Amino acid sequence: MSESHVRADGSTLRVRRPPRARPADAARVTRAEINLAHLRHNLRELEASMAADGEAARRPPAQVWAVLKADAYGHGASVLGVHLERAGVDGICVALLEEGIELRQAGVRCPILVMGGYYGRYRDGLEALVEHELSPVVYDPVQLERLATAVRFVGGAPHGVHLKVDTGMGRLGCREDEFLPLLRALRRHPELRLDALMTHLACADEPDPAITHDQLRRFDAAQELVRRQGLRPVLRHAANSAAALRFPDAQLDLVRPGIALHGVHPCPTVASSGSRVPKLKPVMQVLTEIVALRDLRAGEAIGYGHTWRAERPSRIATLPIGYADGFSRALSNRGHVLLHGQRVPIAGSVSMDLTMIDVTDIADARLRDEVVVLGEQRGRAGEDRIDVAEWAALEGTITWECYTGISRRVPRFYRHP
Ligand SMILES: *Cc1c(COP(=O)(O)O)cnc(C)c1O
Repeated sequence: MSESHVRADGSTLRVRRPPRARPADAARVTRAEINLAHLRHNLRELEASMAADGEAARRPPAQVWAVLKADAYGHGASVLGVHLERAGVDGICVALLEEGIELRQAGVRCPILVMGGYYGRYRDGLEALVEHELSPVVYDPVQLERLATAVRFVGGAPHGVHLKVDTGMGRLGCREDEFLPLLRALRRHPELRLDALMTHLACADEPDPAITHDQLRRFDAAQELVRRQGLRPVLRHAANSAAALRFPDAQLDLVRPGIALHGVHPCPTVASSGSRVPKLKPVMQVLTEIVALRDLRAGEAIGYGHTWRAERPSRIATLPIGYADGFSRALSNRGHVLLHGQRVPIAGSVSMDLTMIDVTDIADARLRDEVVVLGEQRGRAGEDRIDVAEWAALEGTITWECYTGISRRVPRFYRHP
């Protein structure tokens, strides 16, 4: 599949899109398993937690719009989108126009919000947005002008938009002092309909709640301005996973959870002010198999840079997974995997395609034995789990980056309930 891309200087580039490896084509044993029952479980847990908060505050629970940007955090957006729509989510959020189109092409019918704010340099991007009935996030008058033109060109009913206010993230959104002109511009365009007012919270997963409270106060002020302009957004939203779970006041009319639906608590060590802590289950597991085994004498070293040396006679197994799969090189000599239900240390440097583990203490490790790289395993030696938070801590990053780093050459298999 190839397509052209026109650059700013007018020249054209052709890009070829490599097809994602499909499970049926996969020759290698390394794979990701996506558990759709866990996905549904996480949705229900989140809803139950929010309903408990709503009950405490005597208000109806918020809608859930699942965030499936970046290919659903590496889990595969079209399968998760179709599944979550069936499970009853009210909408889906993506970052990119092309991510929204991909979901429509997969058959998703519910509202889809494109949060990235960028719809291409030319009108065809905005027309695609309108034709696919995708809701754009907008925050400046020029966007409104261009969108209104595209709606006139395509024809049909007024197109709904979500207005974004910057209440302290400092990334996208209308600044408070530019908000009035934006509202006036919106009122000038009958082609557009104000569906929602939104903002994004910068510190919802940080221990100190003060910044979040301040952002929510500023968001209230923006709503007041909208009301005074005689505009009525149907929905107001602000909360990512952390805010949906920690700040009942941030739930408003709808929440935009991403990481929590994928089964990871956004801030496990921060106390929640919500009334119920959900029990989330990781949706993704990553598995591989032993493809080679060797016995070393004490003193022998292995891997690039010889960073691991046998202190005793040792047995080393080789796994066909490496940093090109998203198994970070930062795990070299530090991370673990599971074999027979037991933790086994990584030995030496993780290389691009392969990683070695020290199986000396595992009785009877064999070729083709299954190895869990991420997830849980029960085996003859016991039961254990490695969750993505463990990777994130060792890699000095966040769980979001670990998931989105699992590359396209790891085929995704979907476990249907
Ligand atoms: C990514 C994103 C979310 C979801 O964040 P999680 O922390 O994964 O729940 C919500 N809103 C916006 C604007 C985002 O960019």
